[in-house]
Amino acid sequence: MGGYFGITSKNECVADVFFGVDYHSHLGTKRAGMAAWAEGIGLQREIHKIESAPFRTKFEHVLNDMHGTTAIGCISDRDPQPLLVRSHLGKFAILAIGVINNIDELIEEYLSSCDGAHFDAMTGGEINGTELIAAMISHSNSFVEGIQFAQSQIDGTAGIVIMLEGGRLICARDKYGRIPMLIGKNDDGYAVTFESFAYQKLGYEDESELGPGEIVELSPEGMKQLAEPGKTKRICSFLWSYFGYPTSTYEGVNVEVMRYRNGQKMAMNDMEKGVATEIDYVGGVPDSGTPHAIGYANKSGKHFARAFIKYTPTWSRSFMPANQTERNKVAKMKQIPVMELIKDKKLLFVDDSIVRGTQLRETVEFLYENGAKEVHIRSACPPILYGCKYLNFSRTVSDMELISRRTIMELEGEEGLKHLEEYADSKTERGQSLRKAISDKMKFDSLEFQTLEGVVEAIGIDECDLCTYCWNGKE
Ligand code: SF4
Repeated sequence: MGGYFGITSKNECVADVFFGVDYHSHLGTKRAGMAAWAEGIGLQREIHKIESAPFRTKFEHVLNDMHGTTAIGCISDRDPQPLLVRSHLGKFAILAIGVINNIDELIEEYLSSCDGAHFDAMTGGEINGTELIAAMISHSNSFVEGIQFAQSQIDGTAGIVIMLEGGRLICARDKYGRIPMLIGKNDDGYAVTFESFAYQKLGYEDESELGPGEIVELSPEGMKQLAEPGKTKRICSFLWSYFGYPTSTYEGVNVEVMRYRNGQKMAMNDMEKGVATEIDYVGGVPDSGTPHAIGYANKSGKHFARAFIKYTPTWSRSFMPANQTERNKVAKMKQIPVMELIKDKKLLFVDDSIVRGTQLRETVEFLYENGAKEVHIRSACPPILYGCKYLNFSRTVSDMELISRRTIMELEGEEGLKHLEEYADSKTERGQSLRKAISDKMKFDSLEFQTLEGVVEAIGIDECDLCTYCWNGKE
């Protein structure tokens, strides 16, 4: 994933962009970058790795060293960016967030159609996806034509922000609106953001939420629409369930509020079935499981408690070892139990989702080691049956790493893959056997998933405007 932020203003704005980008740090752990434009100085740019130290630490010097009345920045899980480009369209800085699944084909096509064209290879030989997008744009007659061409060719997602010399911004939401792009306004200019609270904290008011594929140009003087939104929208449902920040609002729906609603619905499902009635405490697997659990506890009338708490002061979120064993070790070291809330207690935990299940299994083992009597698990979304091909959500690389898929294969081999819909549904025999098999191997006393209808109702926008691919494979 990743996130973007930018401002075009009558006044110096580098400090505000610094804070705005920092508010996107939960969306990526690899790299971050900022670029600014100032009259008399021109374009400036900085890129750093943020794997071992957070964005603020790596970029605080830009508050003195970088100047501009227009600036952009991003947190990026892959490509080093923004890139500075000089082309027949002029000098500009560009960043793009998303994923390009067909990058190799597009590069081949580009190299064979443009004499002398070349790309810089990054470490490991990969090509920077933003460089490819910049090349496609530079090869067109205008920014709009180039952006639309790039987005039509990309299999995946690309939200693009371009900063032009002179201080204008061109902001293009991805073709199907899988990730948000919001525009804020204050007396001095405009801001573009992924997370709405980032500009609100800096004194900007909501001006517009771009539609799928919509392109606008921003300058301190105004906002101009360059391309109308497309008709098909598929905003990622997981923004609300998991990776959006709780204080953000997309499509008018706040993340925290959606999570409470979602938890309430899960509690209602359990109450209707008469299960999990003897629970001592309801808790969330921190952090994003917690608001779903608050909703569950409030509705069910069971006490909410934090039976374990993450030790965060010295563990920066961006400290994320590449090796899975080390990541699990870090996750374990962060979890500190509150013995009084665990020993001899029947606990129900809500997790935002169950992807591979590795960390959840360790969490449950840890609760038993600390004396829990029963541990019941609720997933705040349906079983994940398809790997995300639009945003690179989670580090899962193949469908078979998903615990639900793997368990289905164990239960009935390839035949099971013909019945994924049944497995997703707890009312069917296959659905029941999936829940029991996962519970057996992960040592849960019970397991239930939120239904697809439940998530959609909790979000509260039309299902046809949502991407639900990872749960039902619907493109
Ligand atoms: S597949 Fe899942 S994670 Fe990916 S965009 Fe769609 S809903 Fe979001």
